[in-house]
Amino acid sequence: MAELDGHIAMDKNLYNRALKAMLAMAVATFIPTSFIKVPYGRHSRPGWGPSISPRLAWFLMESPTLWMSALLFPHGRMSSNPTSLILLMPFLAHYIHRCCIYPLRIRSGSKPLPISIAAMAFLFNTYNTYLQIRWISHYGNYTAGWLGSPMFIAGLLVFITGMIINLWADSVLLSLRRENEGYKIPRGGLFEYVSCPNYFGEIVEWLGWALMTWSLAGLSFFLYTAANLGPRAAVHHDWYHEQFPERYPKSRKALIPFVY
Ligand code: NDP
Repeated sequence: MAELDGHIAMDKNLYNRALKAMLAMAVATFIPTSFIKVPYGRHSRPGWGPSISPRLAWFLMESPTLWMSALLFPHGRMSSNPTSLILLMPFLAHYIHRCCIYPLRIRSGSKPLPISIAAMAFLFNTYNTYLQIRWISHYGNYTAGWLGSPMFIAGLLVFITGMIINLWADSVLLSLRRENEGYKIPRGGLFEYVSCPNYFGEIVEWLGWALMTWSLAGLSFFLYTAANLGPRAAVHHDWYHEQFPERYPKSRKALIPFVY
């Protein structure tokens, strides 16, 4: 019994430290990503080691979100709690798409991805899945009443809206990609307002998750996503202006319609 108590205390201690580190990382990520163009896709450049096909890279680096969930969730104290199971659904829906469907939709003309970048994303996804899944399956105390709370309902609506925007925008971009053809100016819908609606949708999704779970784990993931994709959207936006100096729409913002 004492041994079990020791394990529980150790896990709680590890979890709290990991959570604090994630919050710090969310803030810290903003600084390097504002100065360093993460070298994949249009910003690929030599010096980051060998690369692999983007399809394989996306599958491998996103895979911890699924196998870690399968390993961790059943061992949580709340694993058979219906509310925890319902909270698991949006997380899985996003990552089943990102890990298993999105890679298949990447066109053959897309740039190879450095193994070093894929390895960093793999580690991040392992770490973040531990935080999110351990929270909803073990440390979060969700009652059935939570599903009727304004936070849960608003969060779910925000998450679904973000996911629709993200899926739609990625579809438009993927359909523009043709082998032996360069990049094109995306047009239509939210692309008339911002350069990166796919990133905007992704950030909105994790804002919804933060509301739905009403947790520091969810908040830290939302902040990390914004800190990671916000600067990358600015870099994409500048790149479009450099590539299409005359033709790129001047009124278009980088990430948030009318704002940024
Ligand atoms: P990009 O917008 O850079 O690229 C998406 C795909 O579309 C790539 O295959 C790219 O080709 C192609 N593409 C993009 N723009 C054009 C264009 N103008 N003309 C032709 N083809 C184009 O997105 P990412 O690859 O950075 O991200 C993919 C998804 O992953 C997004 O939904 C994003 O939100 C998500 N993501 C989430 C992160 C998080 O922190 N939660 C981190 C990173 C990504 P190519 O690769 O050759 O450039």
